Amino acid sequence: MSLPCYYTIGGLNFKNGFVTSCPQQHEKMQILDNAWLPSEFYNNELFRKHRLEMMRGEWSFGCNMCEHVEKDNAGTSMRQELDADLTHYNAETGEVDFAGLKTVEIRFSHSCNMACLHCSQVFSSGWVSKLKKYTPDGYDQFGPHVDVVDKNTSTRFLVFFVYLDDNISGGTHFDRINLTSPCKKGSILIFPPLWTHLHSGLKPIDKPKYIVGSYLHYVAHDK
Ligand code: SF4
Repeated sequence: MSLPCYYTIGGLNFKNGFVTSCPQQHEKMQILDNAWLPSEFYNNELFRKHRLEMMRGEWSFGCNMCEHVEKDNAGTSMRQELDADLTHYNAETGEVDFAGLKTVEIRFSHSCNMACLHCSQVFSSGWVSKLKKYTPDGYDQFGPHVDVVDKNTSTRFLVFFVYLDDNISGGTHFDRINLTSPCKKGSILIFPPLWTHLHSGLKPIDKPKYIVGSYLHYVAHDK
């Protein structure tokens, strides 16, 4: 069953320094460095691959929001909201004649500064600033520490880490109780940032370790 999509066939979405086919799609089909005009990349290799995959019935990388909605039967996906116009589509090459370009959305920046757990760099550059990468070079690690160390950090209430990939060696070790929380894709570790929870980010060995880390803060209330 093919997956014709209005946006796959006829959409461009400029966001955060790259271009995708729709607001939800998050594969960087074109990096905005020296090419900015739709005519320069509308039929580039990644856009053509994306169209051919979808028309073969394979979900493209970056279309997982629609994929999950449809597979989980969780309502109407963005793909299902509009009918694709295949008039200008070349089924052999994946190219679309320029007359088939239906929508161009331009975001001059990210759409919000928050970094909620359900979000991604598609909508917020704040998310990227919380992404941590540890390289398996034998050195990259975060030695024993706590996260409340002075007045400025004293509003931190809880630490949370979201592990983005499996990494056998790259867990979080709690030194005082000799316990290691594994780096397991999709799991979340939450603990107090105080001296009671001295912890270390362990070295990855065979591949990079990716986590998102942030804090819940106490907020000041007006008197
Ligand atoms: S399938 Fe969904 S995420 Fe992918 S291009 Fe179409 S509307 Fe966007």
